[in-house]
Amino acid sequence: MNKDYLSTIKTTVTEILDSIPDGVTLVAAAKTRLPDEVKAAITGGIKVIGYNYIQEAERLRPAINEPVQWHMIGHLQRNKVKKAVKLFDMIETIDSVELAQEVNKQCIAKDKIMPVLIEINSGKESNKTGVLPEKAESLTKQISSLSNLRVQGIMTMGPRFGNPEDARPYFKKTRSLFEQIKKSKIHGVEMRYLSMGMSNTYKIAIEEGANIVRIGTLLFGERFS
Ligand SMILES: *Cc1c(COP(=O)(O)O)cnc(C)c1O
Repeated sequence: MNKDYLSTIKTTVTEILDSIPDGVTLVAAAKTRLPDEVKAAITGGIKVIGYNYIQEAERLRPAINEPVQWHMIGHLQRNKVKKAVKLFDMIETIDSVELAQEVNKQCIAKDKIMPVLIEINSGKESNKTGVLPEKAESLTKQISSLSNLRVQGIMTMGPRFGNPEDARPYFKKTRSLFEQIKKSKIHGVEMRYLSMGMSNTYKIAIEEGANIVRIGTLLFGERFS
């Protein structure tokens, strides 16, 4: 793989890490990327890799020996939960009681505790995954008692716009939902993480309170597959 390209990834990661506030975690959204690209990002300072697909993560994980954290950021199918529990340190995309119960069951089998985020469909888009904002608090309550899950915050994609500013109202709404759930002090729930913002919107998301941003294209270039 082209050396200049790999060093560009490293430099870009370092620049972004320098530009974001302390306390904001940059997740490298690594779908379709090769081990060398992901390693270059880690050399630049990436500590968390985000994956969308189980199959890809299964292929990549053995190739990456650096001590990084792995987050599931894609939609998780129930029949893939067993593998997901083995592969990931956090699942950012819990959006139903059934999925949470399955994750809990597989965690019990592996004697593992899984930190999770609730995925919010902040744009209420019919073709998108995530729980509707008005149902987020009750979902959090329902899964808060599952023994091997730890709800630690919420995540959203939000609608895609040509103009990143158009995403701001959705980030604002997700932030206030985050605060609302935090205030309700659900037993066992610790609202620490607000994961929102991608390549074109991460700055706005940070302004609106995000402390996890998930960036792919800006680090690795356009995706061709
Ligand atoms: C791909 C992806 C991102 C990153 O998107 P970019 O626009 O490439 O930065 C963030 N979050 C999720 C869930 C993704 O699938």
